[in-house]
This record gives sequence, structure tokens and C-alpha cells, in this order.
Amino acid sequence: MTHEHITQDIFETMPIISPTVSNEEQARALGLDGDGDGDGNSSLRLLPDVLPAVQCIARARIPTTQGPEIFLHLYSNDMDKKEHLAIVFGEDVRSRSLYRRRAGETQADRMIRGAYVGKLTPGRRDADRDAATGAALRFDEATGDLVVEAGTTWTQPTLVRIHSECYTGETAWSARCDCGEQFDEAGRLMGLEGHGCIVYLRQEGRGIGLGEKLKAYNLQDLGADTVQANLLLRHPADKRSFGMATAILVDLGLADIRLLTNNPDKIIAVEGKRRLVHVRERVPMVPLAWTGGTGGVSSREVEGYLRTKVEKMGHLLSKPAVRTGE
Ligand SMILES: [Zn+2]
Repeated sequence: MTHEHITQDIFETMPIISPTVSNEEQARALGLDGDGDGDGNSSLRLLPDVLPAVQCIARARIPTTQGPEIFLHLYSNDMDKKEHLAIVFGEDVRSRSLYRRRAGETQADRMIRGAYVGKLTPGRRDADRDAATGAALRFDEATGDLVVEAGTTWTQPTLVRIHSECYTGETAWSARCDCGEQFDEAGRLMGLEGHGCIVYLRQEGRGIGLGEKLKAYNLQDLGADTVQANLLLRHPADKRSFGMATAILVDLGLADIRLLTNNPDKIIAVEGKRRLVHVRERVPMVPLAWTGGTGGVSSREVEGYLRTKVEKMGHLLSKPAVRTGE
């Protein structure tokens, strides 16, 4: 499409229609209609009937510069060609698809895939049993499935963050959004708890991709807010879907969670139609610049970005009346 004259008018008069909303009646029947005005501002959203089939390809221990050790899980799936990830805090979280025994594989194969218990050390030969601690895995002989035994895993609802990739905010030091800060903060909280999972979805720019996101940034510099910019590019305000996250959480056995989010839609989306995952508690993510502490992204752009989240996308954030440092 061509844009001959971009004036503030265009941004103000644009209808805000989210294409993810296609059948209000059905959504209402599902109890998903927040305010029913179809402005994309409610929890009105159709959820997929079928979750993607995910398969954990590999898991590896990553010592981090921040202190806590993490276990990075890499997933393939049958819906897209992207490598979605789970950043897991806690050795005892077990991916069903990773640990399932495969015909003909050796103990060395299993260690290389990351399907082992305890810690890898030079010379270790057995994936299913850690000689150092005596910890052992048990399998269903008929199916090869891992048998998760009571007392061997964490039983409290796990702290979870669903994070969508943001190259600009995480790698290019962008102060247009607070993704990098939120990612760091989620990791910090999980490190303190010693348990948690960040599901890292490769859906850059609310799902529109990095190239389109850069165009949206130019529209924002021309006066649009984040929602208007996406709509001008003929993208929904938020093109992300979270069925992938649900499928990954189910695979990891994390059915009871405490979700770190300000976005009420995300709670409904991650629980899904069949409610295979239960959000027991919502843990708010307060931007660091608003907490009165030091650090955090602070810029004119991020202020507008957060304001749009609250005013147009229904995020549950209340901005402090007086900002510190002003
Ligand atoms: Zn971002």
C-alpha cells in the first residue's frame, strides 16, 4: 500500500480491528468476550482447537553470567519452521518428548540430547542414572515414556514467563520497548526462586517480523502509536499466538503455573480452550523505571509504548502518579 500523506488524522481516525477476532458469538459463548466492543482491547479472542505438536530436540546446561544455571530446551513443532525455546531454571523439570526412550538409541545418545539426570561429568556412561547422587530415571517399558515419580520434582506452581523474541530490545539496546528489561527481570526472579521457566517464542515484533517492525518504528517516529503503526501496515495490533507456549509447558509437565504478565489476554491464551495449563496466580511485571528503583528502560518512546499497552491493549498496569526523578 502507498502512503502519500501521513498526518495525525490518519492515526486518530483509523478503526482498530484485530483480525484475530473473527466470530464474536462463538467467543462470547466461550466466555472470552471482555467488553464486546470488538476493539481488540478485550479478551475477545478465538483460541486454537488444536495445540501444535512439539518435540524437544535437545537440552543443555548453561552456566550464566548472572549466577544461576539454566537448562536451555530447544523445540521443533509441526506449525512453523522456527526453533522455539524454553529457558528452564531447575534440574528436575523433565520434557516428556525429550526423555522418552527412542528405539535403538544408546546411553551416550541420550546424554548428547540432554536426556540425562543429574550432572554430566567427564567419563560418565549412563544417562538414566547419576552415580554421583544415585538419582535414577524410570520408564514405562511398553511406551518408553518417562515415569515422573512423586517427590522427584517440584510440586508448587512454577513461575512462568511467556516471552516473544525482540531483537531490538534484547540485543540492539532499544529503548523503544521494555522487552530486554522484562526478560532480565523474569530471569532474576526465577534465579531467586531456583525454579521457573521462560518460554521464548520466535515471534518478533508481536508476530509481524523484524522487517515490518522496523517500518512500524518509522511510522511511530511520524506520530503513530504502536497499535496504529501495525494497523497502518495492515497487520493486527498483536499477531502473536500462545498455543506454542501451552504445548511447551505441557511437554515440560508445568501444568500449574504462576504467570508473570500484565496482559490479561495472555492468561486466557496460555490456558487455552482445554485448560491443560492452569494459571494459579498472576505475578505483575512492573517496569523498573516506575518502581522508583534504579535502572530500567527510560525514554520518550518507551513511555508511549507502555501507555498504549495500558490504554489500547488492556494491560493491567497502573502508572505511578509521580515519577521518580521528575
Ligand atoms: Zn521489544
